[in-house]
Amino acid sequence: MTDKYAVIGNPISHSKSPQIHQMFAEQTEQDISYEAILAPLNGFVATIDRLREEGYKGCSVTVPFKFEAYKLATPKKNKSFPARFAQSANTLIFDVNKSLKINNTDGDGLIRDIRKNWAFKLKGKRVLLMGAGGAALGAFLPLIKSNASIIVVNRSVENAKIKTDNFVLFPDIPKSYLKKSKYTDNAKKEPQVIGYQSLLGHKFDLIINATSSGLSDEMPPLPPTIFAPNALAYDMMYGRETPFMKFARDQGAQVADGLGMLVEQAAEAFYLWRGVRPDTAAVIAALRNSA
Ligand code: NDP
Repeated sequence: MTDKYAVIGNPISHSKSPQIHQMFAEQTEQDISYEAILAPLNGFVATIDRLREEGYKGCSVTVPFKFEAYKLATPKKNKSFPARFAQSANTLIFDVNKSLKINNTDGDGLIRDIRKNWAFKLKGKRVLLMGAGGAALGAFLPLIKSNASIIVVNRSVENAKIKTDNFVLFPDIPKSYLKKSKYTDNAKKEPQVIGYQSLLGHKFDLIINATSSGLSDEMPPLPPTIFAPNALAYDMMYGRETPFMKFARDQGAQVADGLGMLVEQAAEAFYLWRGVRPDTAAVIAALRNSA
């Protein structure tokens, strides 16, 4: 019998997730269906209840419901660590025994894209993470695990500190999650959060734009000397060149958009649901060719 999955958001018609999961399913010969569902802004929980009632096996969650999705799972053991840190979820698993598990695969997807598709080694690198919204927080724990040295920069330092305080308040990260990380014995280390004015004189090997500045065609106020030689500039946005991408290109940095992250986070979700890993490179190439 065909297993049913869906992505839920509002708006949702732009979503590439059905196309991506269909390609994964064909490749791995998994008998699944995957559709896009528009939930009313005040009807997310009712939509999830309906899907569970109708026997769906899981779903992806996108804007604006990721924070609401996080609150759905109890007890705590049913929430993954990246989801708990970000307080948001993009992947739900509806178990046979009717329990609900939640995950945030955005960060792992980002790391896989950076490592695998851009062949960028994170260990020991100076990383600047711009932003402290859901996407930035989702990336934070997986970045910590990668043994890079991370600074968070945000327009409002206050906002970022409130959100990253979660890390300090997170005494129960198991060693198994952070294995091989220099943070294993230092899991409560406070993340360094600064404002843009403090960036002068700093250089980074990787700068990740996890702000929503690209949506309004704005440029976060970075100094032009910010890129180290051979730096990678990664914008989580995809579909068009943002001012950050243009700025980075002008400074000679290598530039990546968020399409690979989108596909890799979907592959993580597919793996959680189906236990098989699809070939993401083929799917990224197909999406780029069809753009
Ligand atoms: P949010 O709206 O939660 O992000 C808000 C963050 O952006 C805050 O830190 C805010 O700073 C900062 N910000 C907004 N405007 C500016 C600006 N002009 N200059 C500097 N900082 C600014 O969005 P999300 O975290 O959900 O998403 C962020 C981006 O990541 C979006 O472009 C989204 O499309 C992309 N994304 C991509 C994914 C993928 O798979 N490729 C997955 C998820 C997200 P402050 O706190 O000071 O207000």
